[in-house]
Amino acid sequence: MPSESPCPEELARLADNPRVTVRRPGRPRPGGQCVVYWMQRAQRILDNPALDITVEAANLLGLPVVIFFGIVPNFPNANLRHYRFMQQGLCDAAADAAERGVAFVVRRPPGNSLDAFLEEVHAALLVGDENPCREPERWRRVLARRLHIPFWTVDADVVVPSRTFNRSFVLLHHFRPHLRRALPHFLAAPANTRPGFSFHGKLESFPLDQDMTAGFAKLDRTILPVDTFTGGTHAALRRLRDFVRHDLAGYNDARNHPEIEGTSRLSPYLHFGHISPVTVALAVEKAAAPGAVNAETKERFMEQLIAWRELSVLFVRHEPHYDTWECAAPWARQTLIEHAADARPYRYTLAQLTGALTRDELWNAAQRQMTETGWMHNFMRMYWAKKILEWAPDPATAFDWAVLLNDRYQLDGRDPNGYAGIAWAIVGRHDRPWFRRPIFGLVRAMTGASMAKKFDAGRYMAAHGGGPPGMREL
Ligand SMILES: Cc1cc2nc3c(=O)[nH]c(=O)nc-3n(C[C@H](O)[C@H](O)[C@H](O)COP(=O)(O)OP(=O)(O)OC[C@H]3O[C@@H](n4cnc5c(N)ncnc54)[C@H](O)[C@@H]3O)c2cc1C
Repeated sequence: MPSESPCPEELARLADNPRVTVRRPGRPRPGGQCVVYWMQRAQRILDNPALDITVEAANLLGLPVVIFFGIVPNFPNANLRHYRFMQQGLCDAAADAAERGVAFVVRRPPGNSLDAFLEEVHAALLVGDENPCREPERWRRVLARRLHIPFWTVDADVVVPSRTFNRSFVLLHHFRPHLRRALPHFLAAPANTRPGFSFHGKLESFPLDQDMTAGFAKLDRTILPVDTFTGGTHAALRRLRDFVRHDLAGYNDARNHPEIEGTSRLSPYLHFGHISPVTVALAVEKAAAPGAVNAETKERFMEQLIAWRELSVLFVRHEPHYDTWECAAPWARQTLIEHAADARPYRYTLAQLTGALTRDELWNAAQRQMTETGWMHNFMRMYWAKKILEWAPDPATAFDWAVLLNDRYQLDGRDPNGYAGIAWAIVGRHDRPWFRRPIFGLVRAMTGASMAKKFDAGRYMAAHGGGPPGMREL
């Protein structure tokens, strides 16, 4: 039996990969029958370094790979909209796994225990992916203490593994030189290693043509699925292809024009791990290579996809208060406190904000774009969050409301980008002091009037059920 001759040196070399964190060291279980990849954040088969490492370890051990996906009925802040998108993605993952020759098992409660599954399949080694957010990271730590087999995790959803930096950065331009040095080592086509061995046993798996949320009593079903986005790697690749062919060349402009659909709209796919940022970056590099796209435009896109996105991941990894106002930049905290008693000419409740019932039609349109389509343009996200700071009773409540609405309605919500974006807009993280203004103090403000000078606000409002063009706030 090949599984009786583990190769600790080669395995140790594999574990030395900068993407890998050994959470529980040790030799693979003697007589183990497979290597399990516990898929959670990186919900894809293509260009998935966590799966590649699993396959490489399994090939060294002469064992097959089994992918396990345990459906969690109460994933923090997830609702029906998120689960539907995720289920669409799992259908693609199952099909792609079959093509790659790896077993793919989806289990629902009460049969979704990973520990029980590892015993059922006699796993020799467990490999997982990573998620910097608080609760998923806690699950991995707890699991590592409980397990009796080695457990590694692989940083699969960033271009440069976060461990390379092992810290956060105050401003983007502090991060840029570090990123620039690291990037050439990691921006390379993943191996997509073929498995050498097949799993022959019969494994029960939840049929993905059935509703995986059936019977989840506590699931919030009031936030309905949207048909503006279809989940999954296949849809993500189509969207990437369309973006690169039709929109990349005009990206620099479109990113400041919420009234047109000119950005990639890949954020939901990146959030669910349906597509790798490496896949996106390489496709953009390739499209830009013949000079079809101007260098500045390409760089601008890469800066969002890699620099801002990975700055956000580092922020969440290293800032324990990433989702409350406690994460404020020190200068912003001080100035917001100084201006806490400023008169707030307009105040709205959370219910009014949720229902897009403010007197600012541009803001209402943005809120509706989010609640009705599951996504909002970046330019509007900045304005949207800053207005919440202006209208909420205090900055701490503004932060909480922005997180709650963003996480509930955006398909890409519950993501490091969301927490970092809100922290940027409301409490000055990754930004610098601006000019003193009521309520905002030195935090950068945005007004409807200045927004309307930059793009066709009327067209944006009309597209999102806007009222009459009179933007009463302007
Ligand atoms: C208040 C606020 C809340 C936000 N909430 C989220 C969120 O919940 N989830 C989320 O993914 N992004 C969030 N963002 C960041 C950004 O707005 C979205 O990532 C972007 O609008 C997604 O659209 P796109 O895919 O077309 O982006 P593109 O412009 O096509 O960019 C490509 C990718 O780069 C990344 N990116 C782009 N802009 C940023 C940014 N400013 N910061 C970090 N990464 C970026 C995203 O992964 C995006 O998919 C937020 C920003 C703000 C200001």
